Amino acid sequence: MNIVLVKPRGFCAGVVRAINIIKRVLSIYKLPIYMNHELVHNNYIVNFLKKNGVVITKNINNIPEGSVLVISAHGVSKNMINDAYKRNLTVFDATCPLVKKIHYQASYANKNNIDTIIIGNPKHQEVLGTIGQYNNATPYIVESLHDANYIQVKNSNKLCFLTQTTLSIFNTYKIINVLKNRFPNIIELGKNNICYATDNRQQAVYKLARITDLVIIFGSNISSNANKLLEIARKHSKAYMIDNFLYFKKQWLNNVSTIGITSSASTPELLIRQFIKYIKQYGNITIKEVTVSKETLSFKLPKILKI
Ligand code: SF4
Repeated sequence: MNIVLVKPRGFCAGVVRAINIIKRVLSIYKLPIYMNHELVHNNYIVNFLKKNGVVITKNINNIPEGSVLVISAHGVSKNMINDAYKRNLTVFDATCPLVKKIHYQASYANKNNIDTIIIGNPKHQEVLGTIGQYNNATPYIVESLHDANYIQVKNSNKLCFLTQTTLSIFNTYKIINVLKNRFPNIIELGKNNICYATDNRQQAVYKLARITDLVIIFGSNISSNANKLLEIARKHSKAYMIDNFLYFKKQWLNNVSTIGITSSASTPELLIRQFIKYIKQYGNITIKEVTVSKETLSFKLPKILKI
């Protein structure tokens, strides 16, 4: 059996930064450390943090005054940050700098009374955080091509759009084209906010699915970017998403000679290593790594946490 590991896969720069922040905070401050949401959308990481003294609570008012709060990589509303300071919390912000950039764009639109269409999932933590940058008007939300075709806006001459960072590149371009056709004066504030890591992993899984009989995506079903990888892989191959090797089903190997492996931007590489060890019980395997694109981006830690 052949295994093809595609690159890039796994941790992106924003997740590496968020994990380094929480690791430093855990090593410096008294437990428990509070978080407003899962640090990143991966069950392995979330369970690890919970076991090591992290408490997740959506309601800032439940956090004892004077505690330490770490903001998740998805970002939060302005109100939540203000509430945290009102409760005298020490706040460390693990929001990905690429999400922060969207917050600045949203704040600019809010300040200049430019109506905004946010392309994304209105229930996703990142989109809630972006909506929370507005206090002059509520942004419109477009989730699908259907929404893009039918959305009605008050003033199409003072209108911009932003996107969630982890959407499908293939669908989002179609949605943006529809919006541009319907509202020719729409402003591309962020051009397209789908991040480099989402883009690269989707391009990579697209290529992987075309050269393998089965694609296994390591990731959690709470992760938007993991689900998009599955969606793309399924269009071109048999594909499944699992948290770890324990969820793998032997019958998936029927008529399969080449397995493609990738992982979402929040999945530790350790889970892939465990799978490879496990799959060896079914016979000899050869492992090949295919690089679709190279990544070099990294983000600095906040000054106070630097070693
Ligand atoms: S997926 Fe993109 S936006 Fe999200 S943390 Fe990673 S780099 Fe940042």
